Amino acid sequence: MAEKLRFRDPELAKSIAQQIQKLAPKDGTVKLCHVCGTHEWTITHYGLRSLLPKNVEVIAGPGCPVCIVPAAEIDEAVQLAQKGAVVTCFGDALRVPGSEMSLLEAKAAGADVRVVYGVSDAVGMARREQDKEFVFFAMGFETTAPSTAVEALGNPPENFGFLVSHRLIPPAMELLLGVGDLNISGFIAPGHVSAIIGMKPYELFPRVYRMPTVVAGFEPIDVLMAVYMILKQLSEGAARLENEYSRVVKWEGNTRALEVMNKAFAVTGGNWRGIGRLPGSALKLREELAAFDAREKYDVHVAQGKDILLGCECHLVIIGKIKPNECPMFMKACTPTKPVGACMVSSEGTCSVWARSAAT
Ligand code: SF4
Repeated sequence: MAEKLRFRDPELAKSIAQQIQKLAPKDGTVKLCHVCGTHEWTITHYGLRSLLPKNVEVIAGPGCPVCIVPAAEIDEAVQLAQKGAVVTCFGDALRVPGSEMSLLEAKAAGADVRVVYGVSDAVGMARREQDKEFVFFAMGFETTAPSTAVEALGNPPENFGFLVSHRLIPPAMELLLGVGDLNISGFIAPGHVSAIIGMKPYELFPRVYRMPTVVAGFEPIDVLMAVYMILKQLSEGAARLENEYSRVVKWEGNTRALEVMNKAFAVTGGNWRGIGRLPGSALKLREELAAFDAREKYDVHVAQGKDILLGCECHLVIIGKIKPNECPMFMKACTPTKPVGACMVSSEGTCSVWARSAAT
């Protein structure tokens, strides 16, 4: 087993872990769920699960924005590239499997697919190369949607379009509560998403579902504190929304970012890889910006995509139903250098996080 990273303040970590031990239930198992690739990275690389009581489990939900993009939307990007548009995307998006091929494979076959660090780079390319049509494949949760919104509202050049695949986290959390045998007892909500959306969108979890919910940062101490705060609520029979990451997350969120998102996007239903359609979980450009919607502008049509390849268990990993090492392909047919499923492609994918932890 690989050596885990060291805590900056081991005494504090030990003390929180002791408090957690005291709060562990006497009978049964408590299952807490996070929905964030960075939380999974922290938990795995610092070995936090080994500090928890045997009957307190932390599972990873759909927290990787690349893993949950359905194959049909990769197919749309591939189709655009094959039609001659320059498709720009984040590096993580390149190898995500589509129904027939990834963007990397389309590139290898001659399509012009370029990696960018941000949407403004893509817009800059379109301004410089006006003889070509450019598309930005806009993936990500509420953390990346504001920068797409800013560019969409900023009068992009005529030879530019957005293939919007942004998704929203709270509807995915709500879905998990409907998966009967997951039996989640509390949520650790993602700090970076919450820095944008604030606390309000999580209010329904304690209010409607009696689900303790704690927004947490990404240091190992943050995650341990969130576990402690949820167990404390459970021991009191309470269900509250609490903010462990108050040094960054405000109740109202980032109002400027929310304003631009709201101006550029309408909320709609969206498909999630391996999960299916979730109402109110996706963003699309508003009518006023339809001229920049790549699907309409370039008349993109794809059939229903093939999300899960034979033998791949990504659909179960994405909702935390199984751990990566319970997939028969994990570190055999599917590795970070030769990924089969989407969860092994992105550095935020649960399988990739586990694989890299085992390898370092
Ligand atoms: Fe999918 Fe590979 Fe993970 Fe299996 S190991 S669930 S195939 S990503």
